[in-house]
Amino acid sequence: MDATILIIEDEKNINDILAFTFEKEGYKTLSAYDGITGVDMALKNNPNIVLLDINLPGMDGMDACKEIRKISNVPIIMLTAREDEVDKIVGLELGADDYITKPYSARELSARVKALLRRSEISASAQPKTENINTITSGDVVINIDRYEVKKNGQTVDITLREFELLKFLAVAPSQIFSREVLLENVWGYEYLGDMRTVDVTIRRLREKIEDDPSMPRYIMTKRSIGYYFNKI
Ligand code: CA
Repeated sequence: MDATILIIEDEKNINDILAFTFEKEGYKTLSAYDGITGVDMALKNNPNIVLLDINLPGMDGMDACKEIRKISNVPIIMLTAREDEVDKIVGLELGADDYITKPYSARELSARVKALLRRSEISASAQPKTENINTITSGDVVINIDRYEVKKNGQTVDITLREFELLKFLAVAPSQIFSREVLLENVWGYEYLGDMRTVDVTIRRLREKIEDDPSMPRYIMTKRSIGYYFNKI
């Protein structure tokens, strides 16, 4: 695998260990030790995935995440030192694809990197086709499965890979209600340690992107105390 991982972490020994671990697994790595350099490298060096520490000198990881998201949908895993930071990340809706709390095992981090890369590879290899385009249409929303593209009112929606995967999962089975657990398992792709907020946050972001009024959704519906479903209009 020749995927490149950008590691943005100011503690040099941690950065070194992560680089060593991933290079041993066959990845290329890039290292940045502050937020501003990290954002710059994320945008210029075209990494396949970004590992982003929260506490960084200069620009912190949360702002760095927002900056990267303005221009790029590269998968981002936030590295957090404390549980309460997770609440902050989730609450701020930064657009990170995943987060992991220190201390984490190299094996767990590696599994998450692999899961995200697998999805982005599928996305990258999706060839534009002129026929047999696999689309799901509901109201003014068109989901193009082959192109990993969503259009709202004819306009392409800026959507992250994870948001797309979630929307696709719901939309291919309209009206079928999925619990958060099922969505985590199928969309996030590994045994997630029970943080259902991740699903809720991603649903909220999706609604902001495809609903006319996110507080009165017509496409991505909530079934109270059960889960979510896609409504085909
Ligand atoms: Ca740090």
